[in-house]
Amino acid sequence: MLNKKTIEDIKIDGKKVLVRCDFNVPMDDAGNITDDRRIQSALPTIEYIIKNNGKVILMSHLGRPKGEAKKEFSLEPVAKRLANLLNREVIFVDNDNVTGEDANKAVDDMEKGEVVLLQNTRFRKGEKKNAKEFAKELAELADVFVNDAFGTAHRAHASNVGVAEFLPSAIGYLIKKEIDVMGKAMSNPERPFMAILGGAKVSDKIDVIENLIEKVDTLLIGGGMMFTFLKAKGYEIGNSLIEDDKVNLAKELIDKANKKGVELLLPTDVVVAKEFKNDTEYKTVSIDNIPKDMMGLDIGKKTSDAFGDEILKGKTIIWNGPMGVFEMENFAKGTESVAKSMAKSEGTTIIGGGDSASAVDKVGLSDKMTHISTGGGASLEFFEGKVLPGIDAIDNK
Ligand code: AMP
Repeated sequence: MLNKKTIEDIKIDGKKVLVRCDFNVPMDDAGNITDDRRIQSALPTIEYIIKNNGKVILMSHLGRPKGEAKKEFSLEPVAKRLANLLNREVIFVDNDNVTGEDANKAVDDMEKGEVVLLQNTRFRKGEKKNAKEFAKELAELADVFVNDAFGTAHRAHASNVGVAEFLPSAIGYLIKKEIDVMGKAMSNPERPFMAILGGAKVSDKIDVIENLIEKVDTLLIGGGMMFTFLKAKGYEIGNSLIEDDKVNLAKELIDKANKKGVELLLPTDVVVAKEFKNDTEYKTVSIDNIPKDMMGLDIGKKTSDAFGDEILKGKTIIWNGPMGVFEMENFAKGTESVAKSMAKSEGTTIIGGGDSASAVDKVGLSDKMTHISTGGGASLEFFEGKVLPGIDAIDNK
């Protein structure tokens, strides 16, 4: 399996350990953190360094400040929440330059077991460009680098990839857990192995479908992208979301699944609506009865039940993308039903972050899943079989 050094493979005692976390937490307009799970997920690594007498220097991005310092993207609220969760002081270096004199001084003054948090790395233009100078400035603060930000592991930025060039490096517990669980599913799954894919567009999921067709026993398809598949099978889809230029590809994927003996399940009924809004006329119809002037916004009850039966047969189930427009109450039932079926499963259940993770959370079932990835985009690229640059950059064992 993974051949990368982990935090347990490096010397921590007395060392300045620079840790890239994913503290990109949602906040309300008043700057209050509305969901701190990403901070909580970073605790095992931080606590391990404290326990082993290291000096913890944390860095992260927050939101999209586009290379400029913007107060609403300051990590100060994260420092406060982290201090509460750790039950110890977190020294926040409130300097828009992220590195420099204030950061140097804060680090020079650190005792073993203390925690410093730098300002939002995306306040610097060099972050997203993976600029060498910025990476070097960050690296000069520390003795070793630990990457624990799975949510950004699919991006090559200065604070996760660039910095690894200048310091000995390892992955933290969160990244380790993410790739242990998802890596096992992809390389050596207990079978039947199934994938549930939804979300808006086929075009965003082509690579993941192509990679998964090679591995899974069953593929369940819902969401906006189901209509491109239904059209490929000759159904009239009314005003539903369609990518006309992907209909042929959908045909090819259906053929490929057939040849490989992969069961590809498409919905048999859908919830159709007059307009793309919650308060509009809607009804459930069979897929050969989609009215010309209506659009499909969710899978129907029969489909939810059939998907549910299938899910219960699975030993390993991965899910990425909602079954319908789950942000609107009237079109959230299919997504909720899949979440409930997964919660009932006794197999390994993996939620690939993003919208599916929010949907599971909304119905209060997060605790019932084996693993909910902290990275939507990163887990998708992982399911695509791609090498994630933020992990690739870390020293081998
Ligand atoms: P993605 O980011 O590709 O996983 O897509 C998630 C989005 O797909 C959500 O915002 C859903 O509202 C949207 N979506 C799901 N089903 C449909 C549908 N039938 N028509 C339009 N949008 C959909």
